[in-house]
Amino acid sequence: MINSATADKADSKVVRCPYCSQATAIEVPVNFAPVYAHCACCSKKFIAERLSDGLQVLTLEEAPCCSDPDCRELEMGSSDEQ
Ligand SMILES: [Zn+2]
Repeated sequence: MINSATADKADSKVVRCPYCSQATAIEVPVNFAPVYAHCACCSKKFIAERLSDGLQVLTLEEAPCCSDPDCRELEMGSSDEQ
């Protein structure tokens, strides 16, 4: 909402890996869709989701369906059929 010219871009952010707590750089889209990211330290896959006031990271185990990119896609894909 700040600048619509960046709507399709991804941001590079440094977050704390939810598994090993090390700082790792990830790419997150500028929209609020959750994405998978990989930790540079432990190589585990986790979920990063943009919030209105920052970024949250979740392990795959603790992420609710609405924060899981695959699960979301399934739900949205099936309800999108007309
Ligand atoms: Zn890690």
